[in-house]
Amino acid sequence: MKKKKVILSVIIALLVLVLMFLSYTLFSSKLYFKNLSKKSDLEVFTKYKEENVEACYGTKFTCHKVKYTTKGTVNYKKIGLYKVSYNINYRNKKLSKIKEVNVIDTKKPTLKVTGVFDNVCPSGKSKDILINAKDNYDGDISNKVTYTIKDDYITYVVSDSSGNKTIKKIKIKINDSEKPTITLKGESIIYLGTSSKYIEEGYKAEDNCDGDITKNVVVSGKVDTSKAGNYTLTYSVKDNFGNSSSVKREVKVYKKNDYNPENVTGSVIYLTFDDGPGPYTAKLLDILKKYNVKATFFVTGYNNNYNDMLKREVDEGHTVALHSYSHSYGTIYTGIDDFMNDLTKIQNKVKDYTGVESKIIRFPGGSSNTVSRKYKNHIMSDLTKKVEELGFRYFDWTIASGDAGETKDTNKIISNVTGHLKPNAANVILQHDIKGFSVDAVESIIQYGLANGYTFAPLTMNSPVVHQKVNN
Ligand code: ZN
Repeated sequence: MKKKKVILSVIIALLVLVLMFLSYTLFSSKLYFKNLSKKSDLEVFTKYKEENVEACYGTKFTCHKVKYTTKGTVNYKKIGLYKVSYNINYRNKKLSKIKEVNVIDTKKPTLKVTGVFDNVCPSGKSKDILINAKDNYDGDISNKVTYTIKDDYITYVVSDSSGNKTIKKIKIKINDSEKPTITLKGESIIYLGTSSKYIEEGYKAEDNCDGDITKNVVVSGKVDTSKAGNYTLTYSVKDNFGNSSSVKREVKVYKKNDYNPENVTGSVIYLTFDDGPGPYTAKLLDILKKYNVKATFFVTGYNNNYNDMLKREVDEGHTVALHSYSHSYGTIYTGIDDFMNDLTKIQNKVKDYTGVESKIIRFPGGSSNTVSRKYKNHIMSDLTKKVEELGFRYFDWTIASGDAGETKDTNKIISNVTGHLKPNAANVILQHDIKGFSVDAVESIIQYGLANGYTFAPLTMNSPVVHQKVNN
């Protein structure tokens, strides 16, 4: 019996303990928050609002509302995890709870694809398709759009920084109707002396669909600089769709000028320069020397700054011929004696500087000039007859370069000359070595001439007569 009593009193004691514990937890007062979750998500750009949080002092069944404060902010415009602490300080009792607010973006970006879909490059590229992707958080993300092509469909995909994805699938027709383009670096016609080296200056190939396809260019043809002749290089390229293009470059390999005074026949160019010497004469002589080209200088006498050029012209194998001492129409075309006085003056000057007594002349304005009428009627008829009686030979020209007033454009001078050259004939070119833009044309004229089978020669007393019609 005693044993039973003991068990009963233990049970009673336990019950009392449980009751005491329950009444403590259920009926004793403490601080607590109502409706405060530990963590919550917040869609970005939505203002953070506290839930119906209440701070209590009381039991599970009673709530005496007390004041609370919060600390920490939530930047609802910026994705991230924010912590806000909720604090109660009531009658020397304190309670602090942390709440985590996760600002997130769950909205998908918008993706607009518009345009023409029946002419799309095999790569999916098309200048006729406009892609526009916008995200509420990232803004314009058009450049993040990727696409894949399968069968007849192109699938565009774009994801925002939070991984929200938008997909658009569109039916297309693959086509590339444009040929690639090849651009040559350097000239499309290149002149090279024999035994010089051909250096490829390069090229660039571009395609509307494939972009830069320079590495696919195939160059065919060969240049043999040991042999004079015209060589063609062909640059070809194909795009991925199969469209092909090609361009050509001409390489004209010429021999050095092989002027032989004993035998000047066939296609001949006589380069003649009037009114010098002047500031560009030295440069001109350098160019002529480079190509072993001999020319003719119809010189004047009034400018004494370049007298040393006269000797150089003779020393380097050119013909120094007589133009006029004064080059003044009003002085020389007033009478035969006036003309002869001036001519003798320049003849003596040339002789003084070079030792050469030249008898080759060119009339200022040419024998066909009409300006002389202003000073004396019939003077050109008289003079042309007179100079020949005295043993002079006068030369006009067959091609005016245009440097006397028509143009100052070096390229135009080159084309004026090269465009009027006649093969198997004596071509006498008129230029002025007191004009830099004209001197600049000489190298190209020489290259063209040599590459096209012309010989350059200086005028001599034996050269074929080139006279224009006398008009006064
Ligand atoms: Zn002149």
